[in-house]
Amino acid sequence: MAAQIIDGKAIAAKVRERIGSTVSTLKEQGITPGLAVVLVGDDPASRVYVGMKKKMCIELGMYSADHELPSTTTEAELLALIGQLNADSRVHGILVQLPLPDHIDTDKVLEAISPDKDADGFHPYNVGRLMIGKPTFQPCTPYGVMVMLDEIGYDLKGKEVVVVGRSNIVGKPVALMCLSRHATVTICHSRTKDLPDVVRRADVVIAAVGKAEMVKGDWIKPGAVVIDVGINRVGEKKLVGDVEYAAAAERASAITPVPGGVGPMTIAMLLQNTLESAQRKVKTV
Ligand code: NDP
Repeated sequence: MAAQIIDGKAIAAKVRERIGSTVSTLKEQGITPGLAVVLVGDDPASRVYVGMKKKMCIELGMYSADHELPSTTTEAELLALIGQLNADSRVHGILVQLPLPDHIDTDKVLEAISPDKDADGFHPYNVGRLMIGKPTFQPCTPYGVMVMLDEIGYDLKGKEVVVVGRSNIVGKPVALMCLSRHATVTICHSRTKDLPDVVRRADVVIAAVGKAEMVKGDWIKPGAVVIDVGINRVGEKKLVGDVEYAAAAERASAITPVPGGVGPMTIAMLLQNTLESAQRKVKTV
């Protein structure tokens, strides 16, 4: 049977629609959720992302604070701006677009963001809360993966999940999220032995490697769910994932395409995190 294609574009649109209607309700209570995006330098890809974030923020009726700083900005200047945003009551989420220029210490900057406004979920305090299963800002891409599994009605309890990749932004947090939903989780990386055999055990494969079509179709257990986080440029224009899509789709029960799979979820979940932050504020005032 043909695999179900998990349509990230449609799911992200649904998430945004839900956010938009909650924003309207919050506004009636006098709260406008606000996101501050900080871009340092002029990396073209970063500029595109930042533009998209701003556009969606405004479309959903949120307050958007944009800070585009030159690449000569010093660490002290950036930290001072973050201090201002931490204190600004209109801002519920702060995102510093990565990568930062080399002369700025990324860890120092991420740790300066108030854990209460950490829309990306990268602050060590929030990473720790995720680890111990406490409510927190969930990193956007892994959060998007969870929403996609929910949308197809997939229950992770007791399932074998194999995550390929152990980065702090995707592999590790998505593994923790699956664990908290009672899956049995294996995390693979570049030193894993017999990767194909490990992947063959999986009811759910989550690939976050950054290598074009590295996970082969014949590694996929028949009926498995395949979530492909990878975005790899091949040639001038073509984008492919980390999974050999066509061959994997012949065996999987459901699969995310690239593009149009996990990609569109990330910004939607950033806005969701900003909304949740504003909602927490309402509860505490
Ligand atoms: P990183 O480069 O930080 O991590 C890649 C991971 O893959 C590492 O843990 C590495 O292992 C592992 N790896 C590399 N080669 C192999 C191999 N041959 N076998 C097994 N594991 C291997 O990448 P990210 O997590 O940041 O991103 C992964 C992919 O997801 C990229 O394509 C990126 O563009 C995409 N991405 C997509 C997003 C979206 O919005 N959809 C958001 C974020 C990322 P080791 O630790 O041993 O080096």
